[in-house]
Amino acid sequence: MKKTTTAALILILSVMLVIAGCGNSNSNSKNTENKSKDNETQKVEAVSGASEASYTPYDQLKDKYDIIIVGAGGAGMSAALEAKAKGLNPVILEKMPVAGGNTTKSSSGMNASATKFQKEQGIEDSNDLFYDQTLKGGHDTNDKEMLRFFVDNSASAIDWLDSIGIRLNNITITGGMKEKRTHRPEDGSAVGQYLVKGLVKNLQEKGIPLFVNADVKEITQKDGKVNGVKVIFNQADEKVITAAAVVVTTGGFGSNKEMISEVRPDLEGYVTTNQIGSTGDGIKMIEKVGGTTVDMDQIQVHPTVQQEKSYLIGEAVRGEGALLISSKGTRFTNELDTRDKVTAAINTLPEKTAFLVFDSGVKSRVKAIEQYEKMGFVIQGDSIEALAKEMNVPADKLKATLDSWNSAVKAKSDTEFGRTTGMDNDLSGAPYYAIKIGPGVHYTMGGVKINTNTEVLNKDGKPITGLFAAGEVTGGLHGENRIGGNSVAEIIIFGRQAGIKSAEFVKAQ
Ligand SMILES: Cc1cc2nc3c(=O)[nH]c(=O)nc-3n(C[C@H](O)[C@H](O)[C@H](O)COP(=O)(O)OP(=O)(O)OC[C@H]3O[C@@H](n4cnc5c(N)ncnc54)[C@H](O)[C@@H]3O)c2cc1C
Repeated sequence: MKKTTTAALILILSVMLVIAGCGNSNSNSKNTENKSKDNETQKVEAVSGASEASYTPYDQLKDKYDIIIVGAGGAGMSAALEAKAKGLNPVILEKMPVAGGNTTKSSSGMNASATKFQKEQGIEDSNDLFYDQTLKGGHDTNDKEMLRFFVDNSASAIDWLDSIGIRLNNITITGGMKEKRTHRPEDGSAVGQYLVKGLVKNLQEKGIPLFVNADVKEITQKDGKVNGVKVIFNQADEKVITAAAVVVTTGGFGSNKEMISEVRPDLEGYVTTNQIGSTGDGIKMIEKVGGTTVDMDQIQVHPTVQQEKSYLIGEAVRGEGALLISSKGTRFTNELDTRDKVTAAINTLPEKTAFLVFDSGVKSRVKAIEQYEKMGFVIQGDSIEALAKEMNVPADKLKATLDSWNSAVKAKSDTEFGRTTGMDNDLSGAPYYAIKIGPGVHYTMGGVKINTNTEVLNKDGKPITGLFAAGEVTGGLHGENRIGGNSVAEIIIFGRQAGIKSAEFVKAQ
């Protein structure tokens, strides 16, 4: 493919990312800076704030690898690192012009229990508490075997990340959790960009090939075994690549409007927080080779999405103390209840939108708010009354609401809505801020069925030989409702497991 065509394609895709409200505006403008050269390493600014990521040039593509990993999000990159550590040669094929997927967009953090960082900070927690609270949040519909594996391997996932230079030692809380177990970077910034930058750096250091603009279309089989993929490079060159195992880590289908409205017609017209590459390709390809799915109609709608730009306002804002306020200037729910309940509460309001209201203390504790400000989402007032005016809500009502909340924080008791978390600090530090939000499609709980070895299962519950999957493309772990922070944990825990188990499988051939 000619240089000019490649550059044009990357530009078009990057513009599409901006239109879809994917990532922040800075990152997307940087993404257009892709400088491809025929015989040199392709350099693309992976994500905002990330260093330049080097992707493998097309002319280094081979016909055969030990393991093909489809999709360069957190699950795929973790799988590749573990497979390489086992002495194998994996390759990652990513259809977008940049690595990272929805992982880049993740904001609040990664849940894990009984971690060394929790212990250092005197936070008491256990795997059983994490298990019970996740199960409760999922309305007791989670796959219990998967959940047990998940909680029991969460602390070691934090340790593994730390061992490769990705330190998540600043801990907060998300809705539906009772303990502080949401791990994020030391400075409280969004987890995703930091994580992706760190994973890409490790891939480079280990010499793991990562091809972008590599759209995998089909999983191939021979003699009843998965043996490779068909992939189209740069929207033009079709190749068949073989491998003894294929790991599918293509993420969810939150950006595939057709798939969403097929399983959930009631969500037609909702905005989505997902990147445009989250189109459920892996699910469709796996179904074609006999894989089965679970919980496909379980779509998580996130309650706090800035509607005009479809941009997620992370749960850490509420975790650090923000309130949800209606147009009447009053609270209407426990802000840190599970996402499904908070969404339902917002949908009972006539305008189906609300305001997140917080003070300068919350702002200083949640780095991401600086980004929301840059994007023009944040309304500010030097006093509560001034903020109320900007929000167009009754000032006396907003003042009374904040006064009563500050008393609840002091008494450690929210008699109105029974909130028990995100109450370490009151909202008394001027200036005051608000962000207008409403619900948006955020996460697809359903997906392909796997076991704890990440083997993809067929309709009879038997593994499809040579086929593995991990991350949002899979279903079952979260049941009917995913807890915020559990997905980043899932992609690291099961991504690693997919790398280890696919490597063991290949070695045994
Ligand atoms: C705005 C936002 C904020 C979030 N915040 C959090 C949070 O704070 N904590 C948390 O736990 N979870 C969070 N989540 C959820 C979490 O980020 C995702 O569920 C998780 O990162 C998914 O990781 P993954 O590796 O499975 O998929 P992804 O990171 O989406 O990666 C999949 C990759 O596969 C590629 N791909 C797809 N199809 C193909 C194909 N046919 N061929 C080749 N490549 C393909 C995609 O382009 C993508 O790059 C958030 C999600 C969003 C959207």
